[in-house]
Amino acid sequence: MNEIKNIGQVIEIRDGIAICNGLSEIGYGGEVVIQTSNGDVKGQALNLEEDRVGVIVLGNYLSVKAGDKVINSGEILSINASDLLIGKTINALGINLETGEEVVKKGIRMPLEAKAPGIIERKPVTRPLQTGIISIDATIPVGKGQRELVIGDRQTGKTAVCIDTILNQKGKDTICIYVAIGQKAAKISQIKAQLDKEGAMDYTIIVAANASDPTAMQYISPYSGVAIAEYFANNGQDVLIIYDDLTKHAFAYRAISLLLERPPGREAYPGDIFYLHSRLLERAVQLSDEKGGGSITALPVVETQAGDVAAYIPTNIISITDGQIFLDTELFNSGQRPAVNIGTSVSRVGSSAQLKATKQVASKLKLELAQFRELQAFAQFGSELDEVTQKKINTGKMMMELVKQAQAAPYQTYHMVSILYAAVNGYLDEVNLDELARWKEEFISYLDNKDSDGVISQAVESGKKIQDKPEEILKSILEGFTLV
Ligand code: ATP
Ligand code: MG
Repeated sequence: MNEIKNIGQVIEIRDGIAICNGLSEIGYGGEVVIQTSNGDVKGQALNLEEDRVGVIVLGNYLSVKAGDKVINSGEILSINASDLLIGKTINALGINLETGEEVVKKGIRMPLEAKAPGIIERKPVTRPLQTGIISIDATIPVGKGQRELVIGDRQTGKTAVCIDTILNQKGKDTICIYVAIGQKAAKISQIKAQLDKEGAMDYTIIVAANASDPTAMQYISPYSGVAIAEYFANNGQDVLIIYDDLTKHAFAYRAISLLLERPPGREAYPGDIFYLHSRLLERAVQLSDEKGGGSITALPVVETQAGDVAAYIPTNIISITDGQIFLDTELFNSGQRPAVNIGTSVSRVGSSAQLKATKQVASKLKLELAQFRELQAFAQFGSELDEVTQKKINTGKMMMELVKQAQAAPYQTYHMVSILYAAVNGYLDEVNLDELARWKEEFISYLDNKDSDGVISQAVESGKKIQDKPEEILKSILEGFTLV
């Protein structure tokens, strides 16, 4: 703690909010320490009025009583950050949830509220962040430093897409931060166990504020997450941060704001919720070379009701982000998983970061899928279809089958490119739809066997198109492969 600025008193306590007097020097987002009979509890000043300050209590608010002393630490609420955080599951104040200890005692103080880097400190998004999911990397690619929304109804695989993206960062020098907001503790342990099993906790931090935690902790957790992300990005590293989900974050903020007696606006959300989320997501960045070249890629998650993207929070966040991955209940239920709706999903900056080889094979995939969506409507009427149309529909069906993918099974980029190359160049025309999954699996091991020098993977990773020698090798491997 810095020097003590001033000391006040709790005059009223309501559901996790302490109304305090005597804190004339405090600023918005300022940190206070409330001295309760059960020990110190941290708080953050959110409402600044002339004679009183509304403080959210970060911890056990039941122990806070009217008359408790409140100390203004003179600092914006901050979290101690260092590399020690990697592999840990912490709460929004940096306390290890397994041991109850603060993970980083010294470290660098990273403020939860910080101004996003300005235009001069940034450079364009040019490097891909591979999710390992074919339908995303091929058609709605994400670039490092981008903000891409993952949106869909309940149980459509939103979390799965995010966790798979974390799994795919293995060996890719990217720190992953998974911020869990308002989820059940059991779900977090499940996620943690999966990340552990796949060796992904070696580069991942989980910041969890569960449904049973105080609303204030749920509210601040994305800020703790991004503050930690900034610590790594400032050191020149690439960071992927997931906010799962901002719908629950908005609920938490609405609850707090009503207790702080802020005037409710649309759907009872306070008017500044848009500003709040845009400030948070603005902190995603590709830093300039002068600033070390680090990056923060953000995947905020939003839950919709009955696919209604026009509701208040979804529209807000859609307008703030650089695109959205839209997960569709109907697709999900029909077995199309991941249930990415390629027609309604977009990525506004990622295509400039997409590897050339992916682009080369993906453009045809996108076209075929778009044509398929149009023709599908005709096919439903059962009208006589000419040969060309029928062929297009068959190709579309094959492509839809091709982008199906099991959970926790991200693809290496060159595997993805090789499979798509096969699909768009007619190598899969004779393969039965129900054998396609097996074809992909067996072809991948065949490919790795035949190309043990890694010519194809090097060609893909080098950022060049598949052409000349690598293309000849890929073709001869494809010609030599038959599914038995
Ligand atoms: P919630 O709204 O509850 O947060 P969600 O949209 O995050 O749900 P998930 O929890 O990721 O959805 O997934 C829902 C269910 O679908 C889970 O049981 C998950 O295992 C399954 N699932 C997700 N993706 C796939 C996939 N690619 N293949 C098969 N099953 C999947
Ligand atoms: Mg989820």
